[in-house]
Amino acid sequence: MDQKLLKTCIECDEVIRGRTDKRFCSDSCRSAFHNRDKFQLPATYRLIDHRLKRNRKILEKCYRLLESTKNNSSVLERMDMHLNKMNVKTLGFAFDYYTHKDWVDAKEYTFCYEYGYRFTENNAIVLIRRMPFDGDSVYFV
Ligand SMILES: [Zn+2]
Repeated sequence: MDQKLLKTCIECDEVIRGRTDKRFCSDSCRSAFHNRDKFQLPATYRLIDHRLKRNRKILEKCYRLLESTKNNSSVLERMDMHLNKMNVKTLGFAFDYYTHKDWVDAKEYTFCYEYGYRFTENNAIVLIRRMPFDGDSVYFV
């Protein structure tokens, strides 16, 4: 596919303009990233943590959108637009990063924190929200 992934600053999550090899949007973000936690957490930890949180943020955004339109007749179109695999990836979603997997109603979901998803046969994404240690899930298919 020719869609480009948006690159975001690993400190503040702003979209980075310009060169594609940049990791920070500004010098102040670079210093903040390197100065904070320098002696506490290894960089790998922070990078993975950042990925997971960004994934969660994207799923939350999709979930809110679906929630706000669930009684609306245009909901199906909107879901096509926002919850197809390629489009979610274009938002910067990293499918390799997740917090856990769990079975809900005999289907396996991949979770980033409280948001879980699974693929249907035609590569659409079913999104659910489930608070940890809580049996109740809210579905959007
Ligand atoms: Zn930044």
